Parts: sequence; C-alpha cells; structure tokens
Amino acid sequence: MTVTRFAPSPTGLLHVGNIRTALHNWMLARKAGGRFLLRIDDTDAERSREEFVEAIRADLAWLGLAPDGETRQSARLAIYDEAFERLRAAGRVYPCYETPQELDLKRKVLLGRGLPPIYDRAALALTDADHARMAAEGQAPHWRFLLDHAQPIEWHDGIRGPQHFDPASLSDPVVRRADGSWLYMLPSAIDDVEMGVTDVLRGEDHVSNTAAQLQMFAALGAAGFGEGNMPRFAHEALLVGREGKLSKRLGSLSGQALREAGIEPQALVALLARLGTSQPVEPIADRAALVETYDLGTFGRAPARFDEDELARVNQGIVHQLSFDEVADRLPEGMDAGAWLAVRPNLEKVSDAHDWWRVVTGPIELPVFDQETRAFLSEAQGALVWSDNAWATWTAALKDSTGRKGKALFLPLRQALTGQDAGPEMARLLPLLGETTVRRRLRRAAGED
Ligand code: GLU
Repeated sequence: MTVTRFAPSPTGLLHVGNIRTALHNWMLARKAGGRFLLRIDDTDAERSREEFVEAIRADLAWLGLAPDGETRQSARLAIYDEAFERLRAAGRVYPCYETPQELDLKRKVLLGRGLPPIYDRAALALTDADHARMAAEGQAPHWRFLLDHAQPIEWHDGIRGPQHFDPASLSDPVVRRADGSWLYMLPSAIDDVEMGVTDVLRGEDHVSNTAAQLQMFAALGAAGFGEGNMPRFAHEALLVGREGKLSKRLGSLSGQALREAGIEPQALVALLARLGTSQPVEPIADRAALVETYDLGTFGRAPARFDEDELARVNQGIVHQLSFDEVADRLPEGMDAGAWLAVRPNLEKVSDAHDWWRVVTGPIELPVFDQETRAFLSEAQGALVWSDNAWATWTAALKDSTGRKGKALFLPLRQALTGQDAGPEMARLLPLLGETTVRRRLRRAAGED
C-alpha cells in the first residue's frame, strides 16, 4: 500500500511551494489507492506555533486535500529516544562539543584552503576522560550521525533519475542539540520508517538530506528499528517567480492570501498539479481527471515558474464552471441560479458577481446620451413588448423600425439598461432586471423621467 506524507513545519503559513508538495503527495497516494498522511514537524518548540498548525489544517481542508491520518513530532519524542539509543549503542551517533563559533572557524579555514567545509570529526577522537571532564564542567554534547564512508550512497530518484553521493563529501549531520531537542533530519527518517511511508516526494532542496537520511534508514534497520523499511524518493524542481526566487514574496503567496484574493482552491490545484510538468496547465476542475493524468515521469528538472497571471487565468476558467450550489453562500442576497448563470461568463472571481448584482438591483449611473440616441431609446421603450424572449423580438423589431444594427443598435440599449459598455448577455440580463426596471431605465436614459 502506497503511503505518502506531507510534513510541514508549523513555523509559518503554507505558501504555493508547500501547497504544491502537499498536492503532489496527495495525488500520488490517490492515484495508487493509498494513504496520504499529514505530519506536523514541530520539534522546534521555539518557532512552532499552534496557530500555524490550525492554518495548515484549514488550508488543506480548503484545498480538498484531507489527510487520511495526522501525527505530530512533538507527540513522538519517546519513539525518537528509543531509536536514538539504538543508534548510540551501535556507534552511529556520537557526542560533540564544538561551539558554533569553533565550527564556523573550522569552516572558514577549510574554505580558505580551497577545501569543502566538511566537519573534521574531531569529536571522534575524544577519550572517555575527555567526556568525563566535559560532563564535570557541565557541558552537554550535541550529537552527530556517523556517516559510513565505506557505503556509497545511491538511489533512483523518481524525478531526477539515478543519484550518487560520496558520503565523505558530506558532514556528519547534527541530529540532536545539547538541550536534547531534535533537528529535523533524524526524526523525519524515524517517522518515515515507523509510519510505513513508501514514497517521499519533496523539493530538491532536500536532495543532500536524502543522501544522509538513506544511511539513517539503513542504520536504523541494522539497529533493529523499523525492519529496514526504505521509502522511494523523488525531488521536484523548485518553484520560482517571474523575477527569480519566490522566497521574497511568499507572504502574498500563502494559501490564506490567495483565498482572500478570490482564488478558488480548484484553480490552485489545477495549476500546481501540472506546473513544471510536460502536461498543459488547464482549468480542470475535475480532481479525478488530474489524478488520472498525474505522472512523475512528466516532471521536468528545470525550475517551475509560478506566474500569478497564469493563476488568474486558470481561476477565471474555473469560476466559469462553478455551479450555483458551489458558490451560493458567497453570492449577494437575492441572487438566484438564473442570475448566477447570467453573470458567470463575465467574472474573473466569484466576488465580481456582487458588482453585476448591483447593476441589476441599481441604482446605476448612466452616461450622457446625445439627442439622437435619446430619441432612439424613447422609441425603444415604446416598442418593448415584454415576454420570456423579449430581447430577441424587441431588438429585431427595433432593427426594422430604426434601421439601426450592430453596435448602433445594441450599445445604447446596453448602456441605458446597465450603465456599462460591456457585460453579461442582455438576453439573460433582461429577465433579471424585470419589465418595470427596464422601462424605468429606458425612460430615464431618454430624458423622460
Ligand atoms: N519539515 C520538513 C520541511 O518542512 C520536512 C521535509 C520533508 O521531509 O518532507 O522541510
């Protein structure tokens, strides 16, 4: 059974980049008939906030990406302790005491000599007496995971293809701070093993983490934890904005900000489902169709460009498909299904319906018509015979009687009845306005009121 997970840290709002990762994991699970889990990575107690946990849940619900299960790392500390003790007994984690300043200096020295800034493992040389002295001085260690330099790191990435890493090119990652708190990497591997995650799909900023984590999975298995379960990995190219990095504008690209700006969840899903793939981005509202065509093999390796204009276009396409029931609670009082269908093709956002509804209910502002147009509008008022099909018969009759056609016929009528030069089909608007309003607006436009 395929199991995927979305593992956000609740240190901020979800933005389009995170949402894309969540969506792709959800689609991967749905396509395989598997499970999609939400894991709140809240080991950083200082930066994690409950309000962000709530916001993440709310965003996923809004997007229709309900998880099949939810866990949080802060509730799993005992599991990490147990796994850690096993790794310690197996000699795969080791205590270190360097201060951040010392580490920084070491890095600078190496870089100054043109060497990669890899941790020199000095702490491995400490003796029992050294450790005893540190303990006596009240110095608690932080802990690093010991990479096995004899074990080349290889995996077949679902998007990037075959990957190779020389473990000696990586620093032994710090996995636990001196105060006992966890950095993200080891708990994440422990969780993936323990929760039976079969597929880890995330951004390519995690590629070197994956390299180290593969050895963690192996070490955990060898230490009798998790039976050597090892997920498949895929890393997607990062999202970039029109002008390069997205990171500066992430505030305005949060799920919440986009929702407030009138973006429909289906639009965000349709765009992000295919952005950066070889499949065309289209306003596809049907989830099942998106899931059906989801294929990691179509994901490109070049950064995917997120363009708000493209999102606006997809959004418009989605709005034009929304049924009355889907939007009823966001429409102005009194607006019914017929009115929704009349104005829908003219909307960019659902909230634009309010503007058109104001045109229907009035009052509207009229342009100033010249004398000839006023005479035409007066004649038009007289020629109107109200019926279900009034617009077609009325304009046909006016065409005959006045010789006007095209714009000269239709524009003054539209302007007189809506105060606008363009808008929803008049044949659909007329019944919404009703005979009394139509006649009143025509008389006013003709200067008769
Ligand atoms: N909490 C990590 C992050 O937000 C999880 C990454 C992952 O393993 O997917 O980057």
